[in-house]
Amino acid sequence: MLCFYNTLTGKKEPFSSLEQGRVSMYTCGPTVYAYSHLGNFRTFISQDILRRYLKYKGFRLNHVMNYTDVDDKTIQNANKSGLGLKSYTNQFIEAFKVDCSLLKIQTPEKVVRATDHIHDMAKMVEGLILKGYAYHKENSTYFRISNFKTYGRLSRINISGIKSGARVDQDEYEKENPRDFVLWKASKPGEPEWPTSFGPGRPGWHLECSVMAMKYLGESFDIHSGGTDLIFPHHENEIAQSEALTGKPFVRYWIHVEHLLVEGKKMAKSGGNFHTLRDLLDKGHRPSAIRYLLASVPYRKQLNFTFDALHQAKQSIERLQNFQYRLRKENFKQGKDSGITARAKMAKKEFEEALDDDLNTARASAAIFDLVREGNASMDKGFFRKGNIPDYLEVLKIWDRIFAVLPSAASFQESEQGQSLTDPQINTLIEDRNKARKTRNFTRADQVRKDLELAGVTIEDTKAGTRWKRK
Ligand code: AMP
Ligand code: ZN
Repeated sequence: MLCFYNTLTGKKEPFSSLEQGRVSMYTCGPTVYAYSHLGNFRTFISQDILRRYLKYKGFRLNHVMNYTDVDDKTIQNANKSGLGLKSYTNQFIEAFKVDCSLLKIQTPEKVVRATDHIHDMAKMVEGLILKGYAYHKENSTYFRISNFKTYGRLSRINISGIKSGARVDQDEYEKENPRDFVLWKASKPGEPEWPTSFGPGRPGWHLECSVMAMKYLGESFDIHSGGTDLIFPHHENEIAQSEALTGKPFVRYWIHVEHLLVEGKKMAKSGGNFHTLRDLLDKGHRPSAIRYLLASVPYRKQLNFTFDALHQAKQSIERLQNFQYRLRKENFKQGKDSGITARAKMAKKEFEEALDDDLNTARASAAIFDLVREGNASMDKGFFRKGNIPDYLEVLKIWDRIFAVLPSAASFQESEQGQSLTDPQINTLIEDRNKARKTRNFTRADQVRKDLELAGVTIEDTKAGTRWKRK
């Protein structure tokens, strides 16, 4: 039975969807003020594993993800760059798409930008004002949390100490310190603004996600996910404003991904202790090893990033590849050994039981690596038979439907949405390669070519520039 740990109840619970056979899910997308780092990708990869496994279990998905393209940080950085907010954020949205393709993160059914929903956001604030949950102060509009009796239920924060009317204007604020949060920020010189019935200004970050989630998924939906740093205040505030407006439960399962750490500290842009995907590719690391490293530790456990662990991840993938190669190329005796087939079936069962258990990716992988070890041993001893090959290939294939790190040889290729590169993404990669060649970083240049090859794109350098075509 498929179970998830639900932050709201603090328990592992069996999963069932509101609509039979279909899961509605919202994931907080990247704040597009810089390149996403590996910590961010730990969360996005965990969410990708969640969506791949839900599909594996036969659910259809309606998964919505946003781009936070207007908030304190995007505005600040866009202003520093001298570019307008839209052009500034566009470049990071494009980079994010390329990174996701390389990391085999599937594209959600709907990906939306906050700035395309300003009108809906203003409507939500009007609704909250009418219901008495929102008030104006110095041209901004705030949510009065003392009116929302169950505030703090998700993060288990104690609001008894809160001073009535204590307000906060920032999108993010200190932990353990509940405040009336800003729904709509008064206009300020140098900041974008939109007109509304309650005054010009711009939306607060928390409001954005509630509006986009409910617009596409309805007032109540199945799963909402993000990193654990979003539990308070972001998700707490999303619940407050959404439920205050609709009177209905907002989300049924809250799934939060633990942090990726570096030397015991959260990997964060603000901490300066981060690696982007590009940094690591430049150093010669493979996207598959990065994905496997981030995916192989269960999402509710913290994970410490080290280059040793990245190296081990690469070796683990190679072990599976070698086994896959043996299955395809070695000449086994005719026949079928029933014990060896039964062993493969058992591994599949263990794999499913592990993922059913709140997506225990470590156990799911261990099941397959044990099988591969024993499979290699029976090959070495001459017990393995031709008729055993399909069962073993099948187990590798299902494992890779979730982990997505094996090379996409024809029999392993899934025609999964979001795995093939779009034309602009290919052009961006080719520009990256040209830049790398100019700076004589041939490792990187070569890798871009290999990544394109893996994605089914061949390139040719001509006098007129680099040409490409799909295979
Ligand atoms: P941001 O682009 O900052 O809005 O973050 C995008 C996602 O990455 C959010 O779900 C964050 O909770 C998550 N995140 C940020 N830092 C880390 C980290 N070090 N480990 C895991 N997830 C993270
Ligand atoms: Zn959000």
